[in-house]
Amino acid sequence: MGTNRHMSVDSRGRYTPEAMGEAAPGSEGPAGSRSHNLLSPRRASLMQEPVLVLNATYEPINVTAVRRAMVLMLKGVAQAEEMHNSEVHSAAHAHKVPSVIRLLAYRHIPQQSRALSRKNILLRDRNTCQFCVRVFPSSELTLDHVLPRSRGGRSSWENLVACCYRCNNSKGDRTPEEAGLKLARRPRPFTLHTSRQLMRLIGHRDERWRKYLFY
Ligand SMILES: [Zn+2]
Repeated sequence: MGTNRHMSVDSRGRYTPEAMGEAAPGSEGPAGSRSHNLLSPRRASLMQEPVLVLNATYEPINVTAVRRAMVLMLKGVAQAEEMHNSEVHSAAHAHKVPSVIRLLAYRHIPQQSRALSRKNILLRDRNTCQFCVRVFPSSELTLDHVLPRSRGGRSSWENLVACCYRCNNSKGDRTPEEAGLKLARRPRPFTLHTSRQLMRLIGHRDERWRKYLFY
């Protein structure tokens, strides 16, 4: 049904924030334009406040705007899990504004949407060498295969980490244990679809998001 409308992919076959229902002015579908009738334009800033979107399983998958979130709720696609302190008023009613919503039907996010790329690995590792735990500009980092390729190590989220050239050289063709190096943390796939966007927001966002982001 309507749930697929927000699941379009970009030309490279990956999900984009826009495709996931991120409110972008001028790119609203029919659902978005309907919300203009509901709420006065004076509330525009509140309506653009970010809302955390959880999958049916409570996994955070996206960030959208209040306006889109309320449309998803009205359509019965999502329900509010946490509310904002503010309300918006239409002619006859006060509407509570969500801070966190959850999709009622599970939405499959294909693995390839979390593009495995140098850029995304550095982003996941926050430009921190996973062996010496120092932060470097991207140009001074390389990717290290934790289990070397020569030993059958794969190019995967779980086997690639950000690494400075110095640590990369001293590790050579060995495992971290053999080289006397310790990984700062176990490498994992991105679990947040819009991790970039979320990371930017996490620091100063709403307390109500925390339990879903750090679970
Ligand atoms: Zn290093």
